[in-house]
Amino acid sequence: MLLREMDSPQVFETIAGVRAAVGARSRGMSVGFVPTMGALHSGHASLMERARKGNDFVIASIFVNPTQFGPGEDFQTYPRDLAGDLAALGTAGVDAVFAPTVTEMYPTGAVSTAVAPGPLAETLEGAHRPGHFAGVATVCAQLFNIVQPDRVYLGEKDAQQVAVLRQMVADLHMPLEIVACPTVRDPDGLAMSSRNRRLSPEDRSAAEAIPAALFAARERVQEGEFSAQILVAHARQIIDQRPLVRLQYLEVVDPRTFQPVDRVAVGSLMVLAAIVSSVRLIDNMQVGQGVAFGDIG
Ligand code: AMP
Repeated sequence: MLLREMDSPQVFETIAGVRAAVGARSRGMSVGFVPTMGALHSGHASLMERARKGNDFVIASIFVNPTQFGPGEDFQTYPRDLAGDLAALGTAGVDAVFAPTVTEMYPTGAVSTAVAPGPLAETLEGAHRPGHFAGVATVCAQLFNIVQPDRVYLGEKDAQQVAVLRQMVADLHMPLEIVACPTVRDPDGLAMSSRNRRLSPEDRSAAEAIPAALFAARERVQEGEFSAQILVAHARQIIDQRPLVRLQYLEVVDPRTFQPVDRVAVGSLMVLAAIVSSVRLIDNMQVGQGVAFGDIG
C-alpha cells in the first residue's frame, strides 16, 4: 500500500509494495539501501548522501525493530517521528522509503528462523545486550531480502554492528556490499544519535565527556602512548569527572574481532558504552593508524 505520494520519495508500508517499486524502477539500475530506526538526524543524512552518489536508486527504511531490544530496554520510549522523517527524506534525494508496521515484518508475532551471528556478537554490545545482534542480523537479513540492494550503507558509530553484518553477508553469500560511513558529530564532538533527543540539557553537557575521552585517547596515541591499559585509564578518568555519565564498558579492541588488545596496533578501536541518566549511548574512535575501519572487509 502506498502511504503517501509525493514527488519524491514514495513511502511504502508493505513488502509487496516496496518490492514492486524497487523492481520496476531499478531494472538495470544500481540500488543503494539505508536501513534506519527513524528519528533521523544528520548522521543518517550522510548515509543517504553517500548512497545517492553511488547508486541510481536509493531506498531508506524506517523500522524500530522490537526483536533487537531486550526486556527493560527502551523499545517503548525509543524516539519516533515519522512525519518529521518523511519531510527530511523528501529533501535527502531518496527515491523510496519502506516504513513497515511490526505486523508486516512479523505477521505471526515472531520468526521461527533467525540468524545466529557468532562470536563477534558475543562481546561488548553483545555481552551487555544479549540477543541484540541476533535481532539486528535477522531483521537486516529480512530487509536485504526484501529490498535486494547492491550496496548497504551503515554508520561506523555502530562499528560492531558493521562487523557483525559484514560477517553475515560473507557467511550467507549475500550479493551485496556493506559500505561503512564515518560518524557524524555535533560541534561539541558528541556523536549524533536518535537517543540524544532524550538527553536533558544537563545530560547533554555531561555527555560531552564521551567524545572528549575518545579524542584524548587518539591524541595520546599520536604522542606515542600505545598501552591500552594507560589509554583506557586516562579516558576513564575524563568520563568519571562527570557523575551523570556511567560507563558500561571502555576498551581498546581489534577492529576485526572486537576482542581487547594490550597494545594499540593497526586499526585498533577504542569503544565504549555509557548511560547518561537513563539514556544509553555508544561511541568509538579509531586510535590505531594504518587502515580505515571502513576498509576492513
Ligand atoms: P539507527 O537509526 O540508529 O539504527 O541508525 C541507522 C544507521 O545510521 C546505522 O547504520 C547507524 O550506524 C547510522 N548512524 C547513526 N548515527 C550515526 C552518526 N552519528 N553518524 C553516521 N552514521 C550514523
